[in-house]
Amino acid sequence: MREQIIGLITPLSAVIFCVLFLVIWRRGKMDNYVLAFAATYFFFTVGFTVTHLLDTASSYVFHLTQFFYSLSVASAIWGLTRRVGQPPYLGALLLVYGLSAATLAVAVAVSADISSRLIIVNTGYGVMYVIGLMSLLNAHRREAIDRFVIFMHVLLAAQFLIRPVVTLMFEGSIIASEYRESIYYSVVNLSLSIISLSSALVLLGACIYDQMVAVREKAELDMLTGLRTRRAFEQDVIAWLEKAKQEAVPVSLVVADIDHFKAVNDVYGHQTGDNAIAEFGEVIRSTIRDTDIAGRIGGEEFCVLAWNCDGAAAMAMAERVRRRFGDRAIEGMPEDHRLTASFGVAGRDEGEGYGRLFARCDAALYAAKQGGRNRIVHDGKMDKNNVVTEWRGEDELRAARA
Ligand code: GH3
Ligand code: MG
Ligand code: MG
Repeated sequence: MREQIIGLITPLSAVIFCVLFLVIWRRGKMDNYVLAFAATYFFFTVGFTVTHLLDTASSYVFHLTQFFYSLSVASAIWGLTRRVGQPPYLGALLLVYGLSAATLAVAVAVSADISSRLIIVNTGYGVMYVIGLMSLLNAHRREAIDRFVIFMHVLLAAQFLIRPVVTLMFEGSIIASEYRESIYYSVVNLSLSIISLSSALVLLGACIYDQMVAVREKAELDMLTGLRTRRAFEQDVIAWLEKAKQEAVPVSLVVADIDHFKAVNDVYGHQTGDNAIAEFGEVIRSTIRDTDIAGRIGGEEFCVLAWNCDGAAAMAMAERVRRRFGDRAIEGMPEDHRLTASFGVAGRDEGEGYGRLFARCDAALYAAKQGGRNRIVHDGKMDKNNVVTEWRGEDELRAARA
């Protein structure tokens, strides 16, 4: 009886984890993988309680426990693989469960000694974890927390595959009706409580980490356009310029500003102005490549760091943005009224940091405005007083590339 009461600590803590994951999922508005973690602990609790409280001499107890533990393992694998965007291989998991349930039925029928049953069911769980691990190892995501999750699952798989064999080597045979009095049962209880506690902590850590990343990413995005805020943009650009320097990759900066935007606000109202800003952001997002970085750095001013891109290629990109934006109708404005934008482009010179590169780019934008707007100006050279001494227009660059 004492053993029985102490043994309830494990399912009770599993219930707490189940509720905890449910709360995190609901309150944190998190993805369904967190719900799967809650299901993992729910099924684990049911499986554990079944063996712990029912008569182990009845053969159905083993089947019931296996059923709920398999559901628990499958939920964990479903959640973990979903978290990193990998397939859960549910078909393979079902096949493993089917095979081990059938083998268990044979073992239950032929012998009252439960050693073989324990090896069968535990091997099943171990193989399921190995399948889950194979999926996790294929994931592109491999941050510290992901490596930690993988490491924990190597331990889990290993303990399911090794623990029954080793313990039974010491204990020999166990009769079903005396299962709960066996040394094996104490070892199982201890290892299950350690597993359930440590894996809950790792899963909890993964949820908290994911939530932190999501909150940070959301704070770094501008609400109107979904592009980076000025602060986030500058932070990222500084880091990427450093990387470009180390890897000797050419990068260029493009600054863009919508023309005569004040008039849009004045004539059509602020909401229409916002629509135009959102539209421009959308054009930029759909035009740049995944490796480029874009941000809204002012009211209707945008900046793009074009990765692996010399000045000429960056001008071609700016030209695509210019043309696409010029073709867009803006909600709230007459159908035949189109907006334009001006662009300044500069390729990074050797040893140049963000401040100087941006200054050249901004000077080029100013020249584009001065030159009549709705155009792109590429900054050529600056003298030592940071005065731009040479401009290259679009035609000139096109001629240079031909
Ligand atoms: P230019 O062609 O020289 O760029 O002329 P402009 O009228 O566009 O001049 P400027 O760039 O100085 O105008 C920026 C205007 O953008 C001023 C401000 O009222 C407006 N603005 C800034 N932020 C927002 C915003 O979030 N929404 C809206 N609707 N307007 C904004
Ligand atoms: Mg403007
Ligand atoms: Mg402006």
